[in-house]
Amino acid sequence: MTTDPPTATNTKVRQVEAIVHGTVIDHIPGHMTLKVANLLARENDQVSIGMNLRSARMGRKGLVKISGRELDERTLSRLALIAPGATVSIIRDYQVIHKSTVPMPKTFEDIARCANPNCVTNHEKWSSRLDVIGHEPLHVRCFYCERSFAASELTLV
Ligand SMILES: [Zn+2]
Repeated sequence: MTTDPPTATNTKVRQVEAIVHGTVIDHIPGHMTLKVANLLARENDQVSIGMNLRSARMGRKGLVKISGRELDERTLSRLALIAPGATVSIIRDYQVIHKSTVPMPKTFEDIARCANPNCVTNHEKWSSRLDVIGHEPLHVRCFYCERSFAASELTLV
């Protein structure tokens, strides 16, 4: 098994090293970059992180690349909650075969804790259910206690 890092095969200037197969999460708000990397990386993943990269759209942004893996639905939901405007590209053989904004679910089920400390979901072993009620910035409402929160107030489970 080779452990050589992948090398860029074209001359286009890249801000972060190319990957052969895997997933690139781009347009991450700068301050969320490490949180996204922690969220997505598993123990043996090869992860590249770009911080404070220049972006025409955002000024400064973060980028995370994971080699050899595509993201499952639950991971995408977690990503949608903490970096709703991020773009997700799937890479195979150095080619981007799919690129889109992270899909935004209508409901986050068992993705984050309700921020109301008195909510039943924080006292019983119930799964949380948070319905999306607004975008930019992302807001959700707890299905059980009916309180509303900004996504930034929430803690992932
Ligand atoms: Zn609640």
